[in-house]
Amino acid sequence: MEIFERLSEHDHEQIAFWSEPEVGYRGIIAIHDSSLGPAMGGTRFWDYPSEREAVVDVLRLARGMTYKAAIAGVDLGGGKSVILGDNRTTDREMIFRAHGRFVESLGGRYIAAEDVGTSVDDMDFVQMETGHVAGLHGRSGDPSPVTALGAFHALRACALEVYGDASLAGRHVVVQGVGHVGHHLCGLLADAGARLTVSDVDRERVERARDALGAEVVAVDEVFSVDADIFAPCALGGVIDDRTLPLLEVDIVAGAANNQLARPEHAGALKERGILYAPDYVVNAGGLINIYGELTGWSRDRSRARAAGIFETLRRVFDTARSEAITPAAAADRIAEARIASVRRLHRSRV
Ligand code: NAD
Repeated sequence: MEIFERLSEHDHEQIAFWSEPEVGYRGIIAIHDSSLGPAMGGTRFWDYPSEREAVVDVLRLARGMTYKAAIAGVDLGGGKSVILGDNRTTDREMIFRAHGRFVESLGGRYIAAEDVGTSVDDMDFVQMETGHVAGLHGRSGDPSPVTALGAFHALRACALEVYGDASLAGRHVVVQGVGHVGHHLCGLLADAGARLTVSDVDRERVERARDALGAEVVAVDEVFSVDADIFAPCALGGVIDDRTLPLLEVDIVAGAANNQLARPEHAGALKERGILYAPDYVVNAGGLINIYGELTGWSRDRSRARAAGIFETLRRVFDTARSEAITPAAAADRIAEARIASVRRLHRSRV
């Protein structure tokens, strides 16, 4: 693999590697763009089939964080880190202290947080070696309620765009995945008077949504074909693909899951089918806003108010998409890129 070619392909600034064989640690940190501020992004602990796949993944995820931070209006760049190995290991202190030393070596250019395969407890070990870590115990806490709040306001913006009314009362919303974010989102939707249909591979979780919120339950593979107003993916990535897209019987796709589209072209395919797609990184930015609040000392209320602002951000995305005749996904990318370019110009004019 030609590393510099890879970096220049999508304008990544840096990729760094760190090895501590004596504790079984192998880690990679990627920084995509730090024009807005230090690169923020979670630490993924994953048993990649090859080093190449780990590099591809960390670069892709770091770039995604740049766009998410830019459109969320926070002063953070995009980065990500991966630890290669089996995330079920119980010997966590040495692994995560090694990771902390790696993060520290970059002098604050990258700030770590939890992600797939890592937990808040792991970040406590990272913190023993570096201050450049967020999402810690006793600080901003579980981001899921704030992510769900942002997603709720995103769904309101979608309803306004499609139905001319932001109210979700009486709207039928299908939520795929009622875990941390999905469950909180269902609670907000139920309070707003929406009709809920849910699905989850975890039986206890669907039963909780059914018993506590009166949600209807469908089987995991039936979730795509429910005739409803809104489909809200809140489980896995890549759920909108060539197989599922033709099945959809909704007006709107808007949910908290990361990377919902299997391929970027699916944004165009959704538009052709007359389905409004709210770009996932705009919808789910509440989690990042929550962490930014922790870094800057915001109150919980201020973070929540900023997450509610996703309503206005999405309206701008839809306005741009309409006026430029492009997909909302392309419009969101354009707005994010414009903010990064403006801040770069601002910095240049100061020197
Ligand atoms: P979670 O693990 O708590 O919940 C995911 C739920 O999806 C689980 O209940 C799981 O059983 C279910 N699920 C898995 N496969 C499924 C399938 N095939 N069909 C139906 N359900 C299935 O995770 P979470 O923290 O709620 O995050 C949900 C999504 O939102 C993820 O994609 C995550 O990356 C994204 N996200 C979360 C946050 C946050 O603050 N937690 C922030 C931004 C983005």
